[in-house]
Amino acid sequence: MTDILILSLQELQDKIAAIGGEKFRAKQIFNWLHVKQVTEFSEMSNLSEQFRVKLAEHFCINRLNIQKKLVSEHDYTVKYLYGLPDGQKIETVLMRYKHANSLCISTQAGCRMNCTFCASGITGFVRNLTPSEMLLQLYESERDSGLSVGSVVLMGIGEPLDNFDNVVKFLRLLSDKDGRNMSLRHVSLSTCGLADKIDELAELRSGLTLSVSLHAADDETRSTIMPVNKKFNIERIMASCKNYFEKTGRRVSFEYALIKDINDSLETAEKLSRLIKPIGAHLNLIPINHVHSKKHEKSANVKAFHERLTSLGVNATVRRTLGADINAACGQLRAQQLIN
Ligand code: SAH
Repeated sequence: MTDILILSLQELQDKIAAIGGEKFRAKQIFNWLHVKQVTEFSEMSNLSEQFRVKLAEHFCINRLNIQKKLVSEHDYTVKYLYGLPDGQKIETVLMRYKHANSLCISTQAGCRMNCTFCASGITGFVRNLTPSEMLLQLYESERDSGLSVGSVVLMGIGEPLDNFDNVVKFLRLLSDKDGRNMSLRHVSLSTCGLADKIDELAELRSGLTLSVSLHAADDETRSTIMPVNKKFNIERIMASCKNYFEKTGRRVSFEYALIKDINDSLETAEKLSRLIKPIGAHLNLIPINHVHSKKHEKSANVKAFHERLTSLGVNATVRRTLGADINAACGQLRAQQLIN
């Protein structure tokens, strides 16, 4: 049984032809799946009953099931714990802003990167998500909430560039003019800095916004909190970010989670400004979320750190934390479920 949501329009055309369907039917089906987002072949009312039965014999339309749904009392952020078709669980967060709604999606069940402050890798890596499991996080969240999502961020559980081919296929499906038709200008991808894959992504020359989780201003500190730094150090990452800008015209932005006594001194702010300023990138400062079983603490220095960066001419903002009361940070809910 083929997972029909995984197929590009071209692939669907070939499959439909192979089961004796007329070519134009593929576009109709693609529209039902990605624009009207139906969940049953029987709802595809412009196809004959006989053909719908045939489709159901060859293809399946997968669903995610809501295992848990938490709504923040402060800001209406919604966090979904979704069950995948094989029983794995992942998290999706719907953030409601005045201008538009944004969805934070997961790209893997678990994570291989083992950043010391992050909950995503606590219970190890299980598997990559398929392109349809990424799309379904959007379709199910829109269906359940009745809201339309204007932007997507790949910042949930997992390292998107460690699941490169599936993520690229998801981005193609998401932005397909005959499908969900979301401009990649409204999509951002966050990476811990897999520099070789950043270079590959640059070659695609899409409008995607790239965000790099930096979290330190020197290699020694970065390697202690982000083991991936031993493979791609800061200098290598910066070279890839510069290349990304040259190839795509899109400036990379950086994430920096402030952790008490680890990366929050004013000298570090100065070091950071020397790294960031030459490439004119935007820096997002994140007050760290405390993760159960991890030892890092919130920095008391966020304001002073931010002010020092700004006085040095760095374009930095402190990220508003949404959904703090519902464990909305990466992997917190999944980890909690697996540990309890
Ligand atoms: N693997 C990708 C995307 C997932 S994490 C990446 O590393 O970028 C999304 C962002 O949240 C990253 O910047 C990550 O470093 C950060 N993050 C993870 N755990 C956090 C925590 N406890 N507090 C604050 N930010 C955290």
